[in-house]
Amino acid sequence: MPRSTVARIDLKALRENYRLASELASPALAMAVVKADGYGHGIVPVAQALANDAPKYAVACLGEALAIRDAGLRQPVVMLQGVHAPEDIELCARQGFEPVLHSRHQVDWLAQTEARPTFWVKVNTGMNRLGFLPGELSELMAKLDAIGARSGLQGFVTHFACADDRDSPMTAEQTARFEQATAPWPELMRSVGNSAAHFIPGQPLFDWSRPGIMLYGGSPLVGKTGPELGLKPVMSLEAPLITTRTVRAGETVGYGAGFVVEHDTRMGMVAVGYGDGYPRHAGTDTPAAVNGRRIRLIGRVSMDMLAVDLSNAPEAREGDQVELWGQTVGVDEVARCAGTISYELLTGITARVPRDYR
Ligand SMILES: *Cc1c(COP(=O)(O)O)cnc(C)c1O
Repeated sequence: MPRSTVARIDLKALRENYRLASELASPALAMAVVKADGYGHGIVPVAQALANDAPKYAVACLGEALAIRDAGLRQPVVMLQGVHAPEDIELCARQGFEPVLHSRHQVDWLAQTEARPTFWVKVNTGMNRLGFLPGELSELMAKLDAIGARSGLQGFVTHFACADDRDSPMTAEQTARFEQATAPWPELMRSVGNSAAHFIPGQPLFDWSRPGIMLYGGSPLVGKTGPELGLKPVMSLEAPLITTRTVRAGETVGYGAGFVVEHDTRMGMVAVGYGDGYPRHAGTDTPAAVNGRRIRLIGRVSMDMLAVDLSNAPEAREGDQVELWGQTVGVDEVARCAGTISYELLTGITARVPRDYR
């Protein structure tokens, strides 16, 4: 029998989350961000599940865009990081990929080829990761005209640094800079808005928003969980209890003997660890669930196993499936306990864990 550690993926929940993103984005359209293997859910099944709803996909890199094409899906695919090599431009033109142009060397590459893909220009409004400064746009546009590439330009994109914090003035500042910077070209489209921006009341999303984490049910907002925002969990990470025992008061559990049992405790070992992508930094008291009851981790997470306290689930037996996150325990809760965000947990599930789609 195969190891029953598994990530169950609810594609109906994914579609419902996409529909919520579309509603919140409207009148903007929402391009479905499926980078990083669909945030760990599998880029092909995710893209296929959204094929009837999403008018465009967005990915980070060329390999991801090709995976979508190889699956037979025909929608345009925005490449958020643009091309990494000049020869990729021709492939983009041929395949209907829309690279984001964010730096001068990419303009030089465009000048050196006849290929004319549809593309976007990234504006740096304060994130300071990628993009042209507002003051550089006129010169860039003149250059694009001069090399005959202007007709492929679909529009402008920018990315928010602080949209996860509704109290930050940064998003409004970036929006204003973006509006002002792009105003001379009203005929072009504009795209802003990661998931978090969909939940900021009154935030304009212009023509295209770019929801990612919310499609997968993870919360994009600091201090909120996905379900609190009306999002459905998509991934349930499950693993079996492979042994149970009672440890006596004063004994320790796991590496470093770091957890000392206070009173006699029925505990179990679960067949999942950091080798599966479960975060090693999730310490004692991180929640999990068995048979719908919440239990807690004890001691350190190992590569292939972790220990749970079964005091709260006296009926739990070897072979029962433990939910590490999913319906009962939110991925956002586990992320908080591990000092990270749901994005990292979902994208970190390793190839050892089979995905089971329904
Ligand atoms: C990843 C990414 C997104 C999606 O962000 P979420 O916070 O997951 O919604 C949107 N835009 C850009 C440029 C990105 O890199």
